[in-house]
Amino acid sequence: MATLRFFATPEEQYEWLKHYFQPEVMWCVVRDKTRDPYRWWTVQSPEELTLFAHHAPHSLAVCVVLGWYDLGEPRWRRVSLDTGGEYEDIDFFSSHGIEIYLSLYSFEDQHLLFEGWMAVGRPSDYQSLGYNPEQLYRRFRQLERQWRKLMDCSYTPVYRGIAVMRAVPVPYSAGVSYGAVQWCLSGGRLKSALTYAVYDVVPIHQAKQYERALRQFQCPEGTQRCRRCKGGGEIVLEGKVQRCAACDGRGCASISTKWCPHCEGSGSVLVPLYSDRLMVQDCPFCGGRGIIA
Ligand SMILES: [Zn+2]
Ligand SMILES: [Zn+2]
Repeated sequence: MATLRFFATPEEQYEWLKHYFQPEVMWCVVRDKTRDPYRWWTVQSPEELTLFAHHAPHSLAVCVVLGWYDLGEPRWRRVSLDTGGEYEDIDFFSSHGIEIYLSLYSFEDQHLLFEGWMAVGRPSDYQSLGYNPEQLYRRFRQLERQWRKLMDCSYTPVYRGIAVMRAVPVPYSAGVSYGAVQWCLSGGRLKSALTYAVYDVVPIHQAKQYERALRQFQCPEGTQRCRRCKGGGEIVLEGKVQRCAACDGRGCASISTKWCPHCEGSGSVLVPLYSDRLMVQDCPFCGGRGIIA
């Protein structure tokens, strides 16, 4: 999967899409989960694009798929719902589309902006279905270059921790638009699409200093990199971000730490499901803490 991760204001993105979308040569379909979780709207004119959601209760709520008629047309497939019934979903690979999950403001917390991304499938995925992805990839690179013009290259997001304040913040490689930088500088925060992480922005030279400091960082004498939090100092347990008990949030645990023999300190174990799949579960032996007291 070729992916570009980014943060941008909905206003900037809709405005960009409105200018980029040319209905004579392109097609565009949108799924807006704030309206209907399953329905795809076919966009006829660029003006319609600004009518979709700017705020959402969770990330990845609005998905825009763009394609070019000379590469393919949108194709659909019936998908069954667990609750019964079915709906028409776009067949992403045979349509040769490019998906853009928009970065949107949070409904509940007006200081949060959710991460978005732009993506196409892996070349091997297209090849295994008998498609040559070369043209699509060329278009993706073009689209990506245009999209990057929204981004303010002098800033980058950093993670400072939630349950524990990081000694050195961790830079996150995602683009941040001019609008999103201003949003952050006036008190907004950026929320990861898939994890609990929340970021703010720092100038790029600052982020480079953090990167250097992180590379040089070593656990002090008599300690080792914590197996449970892998040095981050915090863990997710029972759905909450918590200070790691194994290292007390320092990221480095004493070499005499008694790691749980069941999960070897990782805090999680794989359990077989009724089918032949495996599921990750908090280790029942140490309660997911990674250590035995
Ligand atoms: Zn730890
Ligand atoms: Zn354990």
